[in-house]
Amino acid sequence: MEFEAKNGHLMWDGCDTVTLAEKFGTPLYVFSQTMIEEKCQELKRDFVDKYKNVRVAFASKAFSTLAMLKIIQKQGFSLDVVSDGELYTAIKAAFSGEHIEMNGNNKSLEELEMALDYGVGRIIVDSLQEVDLIAGIAKEKQKVVDILFRITPEVNVQTHSFISTGQKDSKFGIPIDESILFPQIQHAIERPEVNFLGFHFHVGSQLFDNQSHLAAVEIALDLVKMVRERFDYTIKELNFGGGFGVRYTEADQPKPFSYFTDPMMEKVLAFCQKEHFPQPAVVIEPGRSIVAEAGISLHRIGAIKELPGLRKYVSIDGGMTDNIRPGLYEAKYTGVLANKAESAPAEKVTVSGKACESTDILVKDIELPTVETGDLFATFSTGAYGYSMASNYNKLAIPEVVLTKEGQAEIIVKRQTLDQIIQNEVVPGFLK
Ligand code: PLP
Repeated sequence: MEFEAKNGHLMWDGCDTVTLAEKFGTPLYVFSQTMIEEKCQELKRDFVDKYKNVRVAFASKAFSTLAMLKIIQKQGFSLDVVSDGELYTAIKAAFSGEHIEMNGNNKSLEELEMALDYGVGRIIVDSLQEVDLIAGIAKEKQKVVDILFRITPEVNVQTHSFISTGQKDSKFGIPIDESILFPQIQHAIERPEVNFLGFHFHVGSQLFDNQSHLAAVEIALDLVKMVRERFDYTIKELNFGGGFGVRYTEADQPKPFSYFTDPMMEKVLAFCQKEHFPQPAVVIEPGRSIVAEAGISLHRIGAIKELPGLRKYVSIDGGMTDNIRPGLYEAKYTGVLANKAESAPAEKVTVSGKACESTDILVKDIELPTVETGDLFATFSTGAYGYSMASNYNKLAIPEVVLTKEGQAEIIVKRQTLDQIIQNEVVPGFLK
């Protein structure tokens, strides 16, 4: 991986990572505001400013904090939330309701009420019960809610099956079956409390090939046509989800956003021209591609165990509790010794976490300079689904998060204290 080093230290957005670790402690997540903004600029140049009636909704599940949402809001992007907690964070960040879209395959009554009270712009219907649930609440609150249906376009996806979501056998979305989707559409058109806008799909994540997105766009456009023919109804919006791949290791060759968005838009525009259809709004929902590469994690190396002829384990002061992805779906990462960033590789080691699970291996067989206790290991591309999936397993504290901008660094999430880990625990009277 390419990186900048100065005096033997890994630099991140103008900051010396060794100094950051000393100042803020480890484990530490470091996010470069500059790099996040560069991704947003690319999206604006190649999508938002290039086509009319299109939007980017950042999938906040990738990294949802007040500071991050402020960055996204300043870019003029919308926000995708999937839970009361993500919506609450958006509300606390003063994200405007009309720019929030709510996904989720099992939204509760309370979550939907919260969404309607805050006036979220869109609800993406993901289950067969949801239209009635939304309409019931909307009636009570005398509101009309804009909705889309999340469909399962049944396209093949080149990614790990655990992050493939567009197939029929999925907990997400509504299958495009005659007996399932079409009665739902009819119902949505008939209910005055909902305003049926169109369709949403998300085919999967960490994709480097645009074929599944393009196949799904064709399926969505076929549906647009069918809805006009059957119901004399004009679809006004299509949401093509996220899933654009990023570089975790050198083996990953991510494509620019335009590799996905240009041919998707070409298909939409050609369809509209051919079918004499007004151009629907087009939304994309990138998560990891905005934030993954902007983030690194810093861990201090402690125990070192050499098994001659077999393997050398170097253990860090965190692991699956701050990055579950290797354990969860065999995600691959790479990194460097941040304090020996300009030293040549000297040995092959396996970087292991400190949680009580054999699968708590962050990077297997990585070439590093000679590793010593006290060295600082920096893992690249941990900005997405790292902090947001962090847990308190083994009662380890959730690490601090720091935001950097051209040499400056500020805490955006404080390190959890041990007291905070147990603050909600109660000992019942009969145990006292
Ligand atoms: N939209 C939806 C509905 C999703 O489920 C996801 C990820 O799970 C995303 C967007 C973001 O995906 P990614 O982070 O891969 O861009």
